[in-house]
Amino acid sequence: MKTNIRGTECYAPCSFKYSDLIPPGTCNLLNSSTIFANNEVNLAEVDIYGFDYDYTLALYSNALDTMIYNTARDFLIEHFKYPEGIRKYDYIPNFAARGLHYDIQKGLLMKIDAFHYIQSGTVYRGLSPMPDEEVLQLYGGTYHIPLQQDSGFYGKGPKVKQFMDIFSIPEMTLLAVANDFFITNDIPYDPVHLFRDVSEAIGMVHLKGYMYKWFILRGEETHAVLHRLVNNGKKLFLITNSPFSFVDKGMMHMVGKNWRDFFDVVIVQADKPHFFTDCIKPFRRLDGNGDLRWEKINSLDKGQIYKQGNLFDFLRLTGWRGSKVLYFGDHLYSDLADLMLRHGWRTAAIVPELEQETKVVCTDRYALNLTWLQALTGLMERMQTHRDPESKQVFREWQNEREELRAMIKNLFNPHFGSIFRTRHNPTYFSRHLCRFSDIYMTSLSCLLNYDLSYTFYPRRTPLQHEAPLWMDQLYAAQLPPQGKAFLL
Ligand SMILES: [Mg+2]
Repeated sequence: MKTNIRGTECYAPCSFKYSDLIPPGTCNLLNSSTIFANNEVNLAEVDIYGFDYDYTLALYSNALDTMIYNTARDFLIEHFKYPEGIRKYDYIPNFAARGLHYDIQKGLLMKIDAFHYIQSGTVYRGLSPMPDEEVLQLYGGTYHIPLQQDSGFYGKGPKVKQFMDIFSIPEMTLLAVANDFFITNDIPYDPVHLFRDVSEAIGMVHLKGYMYKWFILRGEETHAVLHRLVNNGKKLFLITNSPFSFVDKGMMHMVGKNWRDFFDVVIVQADKPHFFTDCIKPFRRLDGNGDLRWEKINSLDKGQIYKQGNLFDFLRLTGWRGSKVLYFGDHLYSDLADLMLRHGWRTAAIVPELEQETKVVCTDRYALNLTWLQALTGLMERMQTHRDPESKQVFREWQNEREELRAMIKNLFNPHFGSIFRTRHNPTYFSRHLCRFSDIYMTSLSCLLNYDLSYTFYPRRTPLQHEAPLWMDQLYAAQLPPQGKAFLL
């Protein structure tokens, strides 16, 4: 009798090191300063760099989430007259994660995979997980969320909304908390009203965003990126939904009072994603006091600030088209989707969560659990054809062990919802859209400082399902030490 990877007993000969099972060079070389490529991008061809502002040029610390949550919670109580008891709920860091879906009518937060299936164990009513049987009952015996209810193109379906904005993490937490309060106190309420009220309360916090500058991280790195691009003869522009006074305070904090000198065009309150699809709203110029001017805009001039407008006018007035433009944004739908699908600019996604997730992926614990999970799945694939009672019993035990391993891997990222990139074995809904709408993606803009401006990002050729050998095929087994082979028999 030997012990298995988790220290419990098994019948396999285990005199070899379990780390021998990890394929060489798998995970521990990952670095969160890397820029990852979904598509080939040659920076030498990029002459013009465009940026979103919030969570792209300006990265915020997690303390901002607490501030947004507290302010919105108090607004809910003071202006919408929600019960005072909600004030007892402090912000819960790392409860929610970006890319989750919320069933507006049922008041449920959940994680959905690339195939529109709810991941079991990740449905929360209030702050409590909902048993899988109850989920199945609520959704008519299936985990599948039909496309017509789902998030639509911009993450807002009629019944289910996807939270894609990083600002929405405190919003999800407040929704969960308020639902929890009503449920645990047995107070009847309509989840639809709650959803609208929380949305409005969070929106109100953004209007007070003048204090955000105190939460900005890595401002000097943003400054360095802009400086380097301009020094290399690149043109820069900014398209943000935030108002000028807000952006101005943050940029002065990061770059200095002459920050506008870096940019050839500055557009505020752009109303993305409509900026990229509608051709109705014309540009308007703001004067030095931030007041709107009334003249027709026939050119977009350096040093000026423009409000609203649309991409069609932008392209006509600048001539900045196609692959020579690279646009950076954190919102896959509002910033990147239309540019990728309709306009042919190159796109770069800012995904701050990569910093933490790559750290987890680099741990021995993750590598061991994942390797054993893969090996176990391969064993099950073979074992399923044996129909005798003893084999069936072993298969059931392996099934249970596989479930435990999956839960352990999920908990390494976030005990409630796991990784933002993967459900159990599939990419998440978020991950699939990240691959579809971004050419490259990275933790923060500062990653650009690690690359020469003529660098080409080549995507790795990852095998498609029909191209990959099955786990533990002869080829891989041949690489294992003899004890390892015995373990696999
Ligand atoms: Mg943003």
